[in-house]
Amino acid sequence: MTGKRYVYLFHEGNAEMKELLGGKGANLAEMTRASLPVPFGFTISTEACNDYYAEGERISGPVLEQINTALNELEKQTGKKLGDINNPLLVSVRSGSVFSMPGMMDTVLNLGLNDETVAGLAALTGNERFAYDSYRRFIQMFSDVVLGVDHYHFEDILDKKKHDAGYTHDPELAADDWKEVIAAYKALVLKHTKEPFPQDPKDQLAKSIEAVFRSWNNQRAIVYRRIHKIPDHLGTAVNIQMMVFGNMGEDSGTGVAFTRNPSTGERKLYGEYLINAQGEDVVAGIRTPQPIATLADAMPEVYAQFTAICERLENHYRDLQDIEFTVERGKLYILQTRNGKRTAQAAVKAAVDMVKEGIISREEAILRIDPEQLDQLLHRSIDPNVKLDVLARGLPASPGAATGQTVFDADEAEKLAAKGIKVLLMRPETTPEDIHGIVASEGIITSRGGMTSHAAVVARGMGKACICGCEALKIDVKNKTFEVDGKTYPEGSVLSIDGAKGTMMLGEVPLIDPVLSDEFIELLSWADEARELGVRANADNPEDASVARGFGAEGIGLCRTEHMFMDLARIPVVQEMILAETTQDRLAALDKLLPVQQKDFEGILEEMAGLPVTIRLLDPPLHEFLPSVEELLVEVTKMQQDAHADKRALYEKESLLRKVRRLYEFNPMLGHRGCRLGMIYPEIYEMQVQAIIQACTVLQERGISVQPEIMIPLVGHVNELKEMRSLVHRVASACMGKSGTQVQYTIGTMIEVPRAALTADEIAQEADFFSFGTNDLTQTTFGYSRDDAEGKFLHAYVDRKVLPENPFIVLDQDGVGKLVQMGVKLGRMTKPELKTGICGEHGGEKHSIDFCYRTGLDYVSCSPYRVPLARLAAAQATIKHTNKVPV
Ligand code: ADP
Ligand code: MG
Ligand code: MG
Repeated sequence: MTGKRYVYLFHEGNAEMKELLGGKGANLAEMTRASLPVPFGFTISTEACNDYYAEGERISGPVLEQINTALNELEKQTGKKLGDINNPLLVSVRSGSVFSMPGMMDTVLNLGLNDETVAGLAALTGNERFAYDSYRRFIQMFSDVVLGVDHYHFEDILDKKKHDAGYTHDPELAADDWKEVIAAYKALVLKHTKEPFPQDPKDQLAKSIEAVFRSWNNQRAIVYRRIHKIPDHLGTAVNIQMMVFGNMGEDSGTGVAFTRNPSTGERKLYGEYLINAQGEDVVAGIRTPQPIATLADAMPEVYAQFTAICERLENHYRDLQDIEFTVERGKLYILQTRNGKRTAQAAVKAAVDMVKEGIISREEAILRIDPEQLDQLLHRSIDPNVKLDVLARGLPASPGAATGQTVFDADEAEKLAAKGIKVLLMRPETTPEDIHGIVASEGIITSRGGMTSHAAVVARGMGKACICGCEALKIDVKNKTFEVDGKTYPEGSVLSIDGAKGTMMLGEVPLIDPVLSDEFIELLSWADEARELGVRANADNPEDASVARGFGAEGIGLCRTEHMFMDLARIPVVQEMILAETTQDRLAALDKLLPVQQKDFEGILEEMAGLPVTIRLLDPPLHEFLPSVEELLVEVTKMQQDAHADKRALYEKESLLRKVRRLYEFNPMLGHRGCRLGMIYPEIYEMQVQAIIQACTVLQERGISVQPEIMIPLVGHVNELKEMRSLVHRVASACMGKSGTQVQYTIGTMIEVPRAALTADEIAQEADFFSFGTNDLTQTTFGYSRDDAEGKFLHAYVDRKVLPENPFIVLDQDGVGKLVQMGVKLGRMTKPELKTGICGEHGGEKHSIDFCYRTGLDYVSCSPYRVPLARLAAAQATIKHTNKVPV
């Protein structure tokens, strides 16, 4: 054969050829080679799909020719012929892409039937009911997938027929009943398409293949790919396979099984089957399927054979398998196997168990788990011991617990979330236009739509709690209210949802911290042995520090001090400090803050006893601690118009307004913040250093070991650090002189503006450590302010693939990463022992962690709840790049 090869018989492929044959095709080939009972067939490659699109949605000559050759071969193998009236070949036309996308694309079964072959099939099998049942199934599926006649039209006809005849289940229909249904189906097709149902099997086949190619670009497939980051250019393969029939009577059936429980990971066959049914019936929920264990009684021999095959497949693929099977008159056929989709809990348990069973190595177990998926196990969940008043129930569309104020539109959700308010987005249903609102919300509630509705799919992809199809809710988007049981609730009502149960409660419900399973703890201990990168946490208070330590953090990589300033009780003193007219007044206010800051540090340092704690001195612009100009202006105007207003109070308000105006900045992100504060108001940093050293002194005197690392933010020029470093030393020495206790501390800086990275060799002269603040470094390198970018254009950039990812979530290795690499390299040239870490959110993201490993950083620091995930990702980086196991 000359030219490109587009079509492969099953026995010509193997599991390695996924990219070309798709997952389904490659595994059908692999199973055929292993002599498992797989019906004969062939696969049209993903390249043929791309060729179809390149040709302007047309199957090209060479592809068509190869399909015909393979079809002839299939006819030889089966001894049947497509369209042969006496011995017709029937096939399925099945989609199958490289990455499995369950339910996203289309399949046609029983192809090859027409008014003549159906009679042949009936005669051949001696089973007229079966033949006409198959034909009606084919007409319905083909019309839906290929001709675009929605399947509910057909359901309506069938329902009416069953109702009229007094039947409840499909198998009760006799051959003559089906003939009537078929006549009605054909009339329906004629009405909708203005053409009779196609009778030529070759024509049916070509049209079905094209339809499967086209299903690559249907809306749900596109959305699924976007969520799971599957590239659009891969295309789908098409599998043409001889039909086997589970609908031939009581000795036939069809089912699906997982080799282990995909929810819990328990090692026990898990699945369902239906007697006298065809593949799609199990999923469609027409009848309630039987649990797989009962097959042992119904068909003992088949069951024994099936369990043996399941075990063989799991051992062969060395992973949990999701297997489709059909029994035709007592003979078992395997129709599909793939690595089963599973919850995070099941993923962890199965991987750890498989190590113990000797199926995989520890390294493989570590590589098996997607760190992102672990996030599911690290969320707080609703306390199961508390009895809840359930307000309404919906479908449990995406697990997790969430509490927030109800909002009814995506823009509003985004606006409130930007102010730090937790919201639940409530909509009749969601569409792709709501995506920014979903991102901003804690959880999603819809009154319409099922487990595969947009809201459900998107929420699961993002790991957000979601309940769908909550029909008890009457949502009035216009008036911003919802109604349950005749009672109306306004926007802003606080609700909680349990996405795993599908329940919705009024108010806040008690949550409990996640508990790590024994398997998870064991897996993480293996990860700790394998990894080289340190893992720290970002924590601003003792509670977070304690969570982090519990999750295995080896220190704090970023302790921000501004949150301590924001505390409601302290804010008046903080404002006093900021608004002070003289240094003396400022010192007086700082004196009041000193003891509280010291207590803050004592709490955190004690929690992290024996581990390093990086404390960043004050960073945000001062006006963040003050009331807004608008607010003050309203108050002042009111008071001015009020004849009885206290003149002195008015005078004070007016002068406050003047001061706030003076502190106003055009661009606060690039304004007077970071070490620039310490440069102009050294007394603020002096107070903070004093608080740190005194806290250490107190703890040391109690026998608690401390490792403070004092970090100066936003340094861009070495001279800034030089001045701040001598400030720290001066204050620290004075403190120690007074107490007589020595405290070991280091001084370092954040590298978060490009100039710092570019001059890291100079800056390293004054620094004991560098911590890459990749959030600000991303803002300053791109010249984006994060809130504006994410609110306005970044989504469009990512959608249009101008940027591969949101650079605030996944580190931009080519740009920002280059600065990090340069910073590390230059810094170590000056000071080989320089300690380096990353403390942006990126420190908890797997690709960024891999980059940190390759760049030779000492540690990553991330949010406390992501510490386990970072430990795993750090281990994966080492294993991947030291080639301990093939990846
Ligand atoms: P999906 O990717 O949605 O699972 P499939 O291509 O696997 O779609 O097919 C849908 C259903 O039809 C499955 O239950 C499958 O087992 C069944 N099926 C597919 N091909 C055949 C066949 N040749 N004979 C019998 N059943 C089949
Ligand atoms: Mg399938
Ligand atoms: Mg910063």
